[in-house]
This record gives sequence, structure tokens and C-alpha cells, in this order.
Amino acid sequence: MGAREVTVLGAGVVGVASACWLQSDGHRVTLVDRAEPGEATSSGNAGILSPGSVVPVAMPGLLAKVPGWLMDPAAPLSLRWQYLPQAAPWLLRFLLASRRSRVERIADALRPLLGGTFEAWGRLARAAGCSDLINPSGYMAVYESEAAWQSDALAWSLRRERGVRLEPLDAAAIRELDPDLAPIYPRGVLLPEQGHVANPLWLTRRLFAHFMASGGRFERLQVEDFEPGPRGPRALLGSGRRLPAETLVLAAGVHSARLAARLGTSVPLESQRGYHVHFPEPGIAPRMPVMSGEFKFFVTPMADGLRNAGTVEIAGLDAPPTAARIEALVRHTRRMYPRVNMDGMREWMGHRPCTPDSLPVIGRATGCPDVFLAFGHGHTGLCGAAPTARLIADLVAGRTPFIDPEPYRPTRFRMLAR
Ligand SMILES: Cc1cc2nc3c(=O)[nH]c(=O)nc-3n(C[C@H](O)[C@H](O)[C@H](O)COP(=O)(O)OP(=O)(O)OC[C@H]3O[C@@H](n4cnc5c(N)ncnc54)[C@H](O)[C@@H]3O)c2cc1C
Repeated sequence: MGAREVTVLGAGVVGVASACWLQSDGHRVTLVDRAEPGEATSSGNAGILSPGSVVPVAMPGLLAKVPGWLMDPAAPLSLRWQYLPQAAPWLLRFLLASRRSRVERIADALRPLLGGTFEAWGRLARAAGCSDLINPSGYMAVYESEAAWQSDALAWSLRRERGVRLEPLDAAAIRELDPDLAPIYPRGVLLPEQGHVANPLWLTRRLFAHFMASGGRFERLQVEDFEPGPRGPRALLGSGRRLPAETLVLAAGVHSARLAARLGTSVPLESQRGYHVHFPEPGIAPRMPVMSGEFKFFVTPMADGLRNAGTVEIAGLDAPPTAARIEALVRHTRRMYPRVNMDGMREWMGHRPCTPDSLPVIGRATGCPDVFLAFGHGHTGLCGAAPTARLIADLVAGRTPFIDPEPYRPTRFRMLAR
């Protein structure tokens, strides 16, 4: 297959990484976004690059936890009452994905994609001259209570069984790795083969700058609809404009499902809202990110400060941020790092684009051979962006893909569950 005119809709980390990879294959690429590149969900994440992230969000025992999610708006996972009717169809699929046999298969499917995180990011970052932003620091998870440790047993064995290197830590080893941590963690795990980025927004911006310097084009447009053609849309439509298109990659994050539906492919996608608090002058400098086993947030040392990011809230796209969640992150940061300086703290909320089975959607749109879908990366879109870009480039070129794309196929939601 020769060089094509490719339009990538969505300039988050997935879209920009895909645009760069397609461009390096010789295609003429146009990125389209209604906003500046990288500024949506891709800007505020925890920055973790984790090839070992094989654990889906929906795990066995989910159903019993739902009442708790509804009761406590500051819980690590919460569900807003008012949004329940709208979320119900997605939640049903989410519940079905939590069966043990399904969880094993999902972990098997995540491993080859995310396992390629460092190799694919390495290639992109070297080409863009931003390898300095990629830090193979490892990370550690720390636990305050035996109960929390026990309840994560399956998650750790899913990782271990798929070759993720795990090193158990006792209280002394944890303190040695991070002397600023409060002495409240008797148990932890070091994952030495993981890492983080110095700042996720800077990473997307640097890739984008490289893309433009290498002849890429950028169009600022709020895309509302498509002008149909025989193999996909002939043009993108919005704000009274018509932007001609040939081959299209749809990478519009949490907004992708609505656009994919206009193209005839139905994908259940829900926002799992996440939050961060960012401290520009924390006065401490942990050498690696730390995950709280109890509360499931990451505290990540970034080039411009310390960030505590995480938690899940299912409340839709339109509801305002929940103040109690920010307060909880602040409280937990103080408990973890009693000496942290919180002056100048910034707050943020973003929308993770989540499928019920925690697997992204990567592949051709139904009935549109010139449309490729690349969204739904949920909690691992920063890691997954570079290997996704590689896979999309393989599919657009028509060459043998570097991994089997079957588990990510857009049509897998036709049936409620396999
Ligand atoms: C709190 C939190 C912590 C996280 N931590 C991590 C982590 O540590 N590691 C990790 O790998 N992942 C993490 N994630 C997940 C990761 O951030 C996301 O999966 C990823 O950013 C999704 O990228 P994206 O490019 O698909 O979407 P986005 O970044 O949302 O980009 C989509 C783009 O599409 C554009 N767009 C949408 N609709 C239209 C339209 N109609 N017309 C024009 N443009 C449009 C938007 O403007 C946007 O720029 C975290 C997420 C959150 C919320």
C-alpha cells in the first residue's frame, strides 16, 4: 500500500502518537482537533508508563461493591445516583466483564499491547528528540493494611503470571526507597520495569512540534458529522466548514463513540472521571511514583512538581467536578507525605475513555474500510498510545501487524458477552 492522505481526528496523546507514526511511514497526515493538542484527558493523567498494567478495572466481586460506590462520593470508585439510569447498559457489560474467566482473557489481551510500551515510546521519543521525558524509574505500590493487600491478591497474580517483574518490599525497604513516605506502610511491591513521564502534556506537545516540523498539518475544527463516501467519509463537517478526507483515524478520546456511531460502528464507551492535585513546589523529590494500595491513586514526581492522580467517578460528561474527591486526594497526599508543601496547588478533572472490558478499540470501522478506530484506552492511554500508533500504522499500511489486533476489534460489542 502506498502513501495515503490520512486525517487523524483527535489530538490527544493517542491521536498525536498515531499521526507521528503514520507520518514516519510516509503518509501525508492532517491532525484535526477543536482544541490545542494534548490538553484534554492526556494532559492531567498520572504519567505512569506501565507495560505491566494487565489488570482490568472490572474484577471479580464487583457487584457486591456497587452499593458502597453509591454511598460515598469520595470513595476510590464512586457512582453518582442521578447518573445510574444512563450508565446502566454500560454497567451491565462492565459487570459481565468482571467474571474470572473473562478477566484472565482480558489480561492476556492487554499484555501484548502494553508490553510494547517502552519500545514503541522509545522509537517515537527518539524521533521527536524528547527521550528526556521518558523515565524508566520503576514504581512501587504500598499498603497500610493487610486487608487491602489481601484484596489485591488476584491483581498481583494476574501480573506475575504474565511475566511482570514484582519484588516484595517490607517497611524498611519501602523507607529506604522513599524516606519521605510516612512510616505507615508495612508492605509493598516494587515494579522495576515500569516507569513514568516527566510531564504528559509536554510529551504530547513535543511530539506534536516534531509532527509539524516534519511537514504535518493541523486543522482546528469541532467535528460534528461526516459526509459519507463509498469507503468512509469523504469529508469532516463542523462549524460550517467541510474538510476533505480520504483515510480517517478516529482518536477523539471519550467523544469517539458518538462519532463512531455516525460512521455505523456502535461502541459502549463511558467516562471514568479521574482527578489530580498538583503541587508545583512540593519540597520533596521521590525517585519513583508510588501507588496507594488502599486508595488506588499514584503520586508521581514530575518535572514541574508532584502530582497525585487517580480515583474513578462514574457521573457522565456534564456534571461538575465533585469537591469531596479533590479534598480526599489532598488528605491522602498529606497522610502519605506529611512534609509535602501544598502551596500553589492546582486541581484537575478529566475523562478516561472506558470500554466495559478495559480493552481499547483498535481496528477498522464496520463497513468503512478507510476508517480506523483508535480509542477507549481507559486507564492506560498514555502507555497504550505508542503501541496503538504502531498497530494503527501497520493496519493502514496493510502489513502484518506487530501484534494480533483481534482482541481490540470494534465489533466485539455486538453481543452482550462472549
Ligand atoms: C486521573 C487520571 C490518571 C490517569 N493516569 C494514567 C497513567 O498514569 N497512565 C496511563 O497510561 N494513562 C492514564 N490515564 C488515562 C489516559 O490519560 C487516557 O487514556 C488518555 O489520555 C486518552 O487519550 P486520548 O488521546 O484517547 O484522549 P484525549 O486526551 O481526551 O484526546 C481526545 C482529543 O479529541 C478531541 N476531540 C474530541 N471530540 C472532538 C470533536 N468532535 N472534534 C474535534 N476534536 C475532538 C479533544 O479535544 C481531545 O483533544 C489517566 C487518566 C486520568 C483521568
